[in-house]
Amino acid sequence: MARFIELVEGIEFDEDLYRYLVQYFSDSELDSMARAIKRPPSRYYIRVNTIKVDSASLIRILEARGFRAYPDEALEEAVWLPIEGPFRVESSPKYVVADKHASESVYLGANLYGPGVLYMPPGISRGDVVNVVSPRGDVVASGIAMVDSGSFKRGFRGVVVEVKESVYRLPKLRELPEYGFGLFYEQSQPAQWVGRVVEPREGEVIVDMCAAPGGKATHVAQLSGNRAVIHAFDRSWPKVAQVEFNAARLGVRVNAHVADSRYLDVDYPGLVGSVDKVLIDPPCSDMGVRPKLYYRLTMGDVVNYAEYQRQFIKVAYRLLKPGGALVYSTCTIPPMEDEDNVKYAESLGFKAVEVKIPAGLPALDGLSRRFHPHIHDSPGFFIAKLIKPK
Ligand code: SAH
Repeated sequence: MARFIELVEGIEFDEDLYRYLVQYFSDSELDSMARAIKRPPSRYYIRVNTIKVDSASLIRILEARGFRAYPDEALEEAVWLPIEGPFRVESSPKYVVADKHASESVYLGANLYGPGVLYMPPGISRGDVVNVVSPRGDVVASGIAMVDSGSFKRGFRGVVVEVKESVYRLPKLRELPEYGFGLFYEQSQPAQWVGRVVEPREGEVIVDMCAAPGGKATHVAQLSGNRAVIHAFDRSWPKVAQVEFNAARLGVRVNAHVADSRYLDVDYPGLVGSVDKVLIDPPCSDMGVRPKLYYRLTMGDVVNYAEYQRQFIKVAYRLLKPGGALVYSTCTIPPMEDEDNVKYAESLGFKAVEVKIPAGLPALDGLSRRFHPHIHDSPGFFIAKLIKPK
């Protein structure tokens, strides 16, 4: 059995990963990073759909609806709203256990829905005040039970607890008509910079290898003014349906396809050598994602992710035209999934170039950009740009 080191309550790395990370970050830095990933950033970012509205107008609309909204200091299409908290949550004798994912949403003020319920103890009646707790026992909110425990069944999809007090409170934007009209997309600030680094131009063929739910693909389409040819791939129909739904809502043109992008060169031979830009935003160890109630990661996980990510990079090289660009991003911290993959890309023939954005910090290679949760009031993030030589 691997031994785990708990950096702060609930944030654990196995010994190998801890030893690996302290080569890059001091123990106290890892500590403040772990502390930061337990709480959300203080800003909740949305990307303004500049095809339909400009930032100043959307801010006015949000203000008229009672929200406080502010423009980002540097990125024109980025607007943020304050995340409030932490608040003290009243404890009640009755509780409902939510799974980790649902607990993390409820922690931010969402209601608890049926599919997120792990355990509803007997004796709860509709109208009772209950706590929502995580599988580890963190009290994330209190609210009103909307169903009796006797009548709650697996498969029930409705609201089980209407949340009244949560530890943090996100602005509830999805209920606004402007969300339906496609005036904005909820997306972190570093993720929005990725679209800028892609820098789409009219007529370019652009492939997004890991596209769902479509945040970056729809941003790239928006920045091109719908004048680039964007192929967005993901591995299952439900994922591709998310991309299609978001593209339709935002009114941007994205061609979405189901594929295992590790084999795009074989399955889409027409793309080989004919793509101007590739975006890879692959599955990763998600260390930068905030907030987390708890998190356990091993060196073995990181090695597996890095291995998986390289398979996309290899195919991207084959798809690109000479002179084409790869933009590679992750929402994680271990250099093995970030700078080491840039080195891997260079071993294939790519040339890393500087990511010139007024955000984040220079990465360990001096060219890519890093965002650190304990420094940047944002998720942890990594962005690299690589050119396939002519
Ligand atoms: N770029 C997206 C987020 C991507 S998350 C956005 O900005 O909204 C990573 C995605 O990679 C997931 O949707 C996952 O389904 C997809 N994925 C994982 N393995 C894949 C594979 N082999 N081929 C294609 N997509 C894959």
